[in-house]
Amino acid sequence: MQITHYISNLFEALGVSFTLSLEYLAFAGTVFFVFYFYKKRKYWYLKIQQRFPGNKDIVREMTYSFTTVIIFGLVILPVWWATNHNITLVYRPLNKYGYFYYVFSILLMIVLHDTYYYWTHRLLHWKKIFRYVHKTHHLSLNPTPFSAYALHPVEALLDVSIIPIIVFTIPYHASAVTIFSAYTLGMNVLGHTGFEFFPSGFPRHKLFKWHNTPTHHNMHHRYVKYNFSIYFNFWDRVMKTNHPNYENAFEKVIEQRHSLKAAAELENDPLEINLSLAEQQELLN
Ligand SMILES: [Zn+2]
Ligand SMILES: [Zn+2]
Repeated sequence: MQITHYISNLFEALGVSFTLSLEYLAFAGTVFFVFYFYKKRKYWYLKIQQRFPGNKDIVREMTYSFTTVIIFGLVILPVWWATNHNITLVYRPLNKYGYFYYVFSILLMIVLHDTYYYWTHRLLHWKKIFRYVHKTHHLSLNPTPFSAYALHPVEALLDVSIIPIIVFTIPYHASAVTIFSAYTLGMNVLGHTGFEFFPSGFPRHKLFKWHNTPTHHNMHHRYVKYNFSIYFNFWDRVMKTNHPNYENAFEKVIEQRHSLKAAAELENDPLEINLSLAEQQELLN
């Protein structure tokens, strides 16, 4: 009886870890498929670096992503067990501390992780560590959604350690951690898409400038010594590690986006070319 109970618990735990891995692979895979293949023609003008990543790079990123999700799963496993045994600060029901606290706890997780990520990222850039660990991630000079988890196993372990930190320091409802994890995954993949979706003026806007853009992290992959933050453009501004040309580079990406879109529209619409030729003729007559 006891053994079957343990076996069913183990399968449930493995299921949780496996689902997490599948979530990442499905999400990054879908974004990659849509933007790099299925709708490539339609959205290529949004691409920051106008070249397709090398096949070798994509295979390397996918391979490291697999080891990363396995490491994530191995860390989530004991956390899940501890949560089930009420060893963590988990609480139920959802409104035990009120809905305001519920929302606040998610924001707190995001702010805590933003700080944790910035400083551990700075640590990973320390020469002695960079060479052996973080270089793996920086092999992606032209990032794709799979670069997000293309991490050396030590970095993967450091990255996922935010989860045990959260569950032992912040009273949380299980769904708050799920929302936080989905946000982290979404932002991480967005920052590595290689595509810029935000509008012109975003990094100079009074309010929005405090939020990062895909161009911000893309520049980190190109220039390495700047732009270490993940969600907010807070620590980079405070510690003066924002690339000095970030705002201008962002606007250049937007300019490139406009001209590429106009060129693509002209190419895809021969009628428009004919019309403009006819108009020109009319003008000449
Ligand atoms: Zn880095
Ligand atoms: Zn990166």
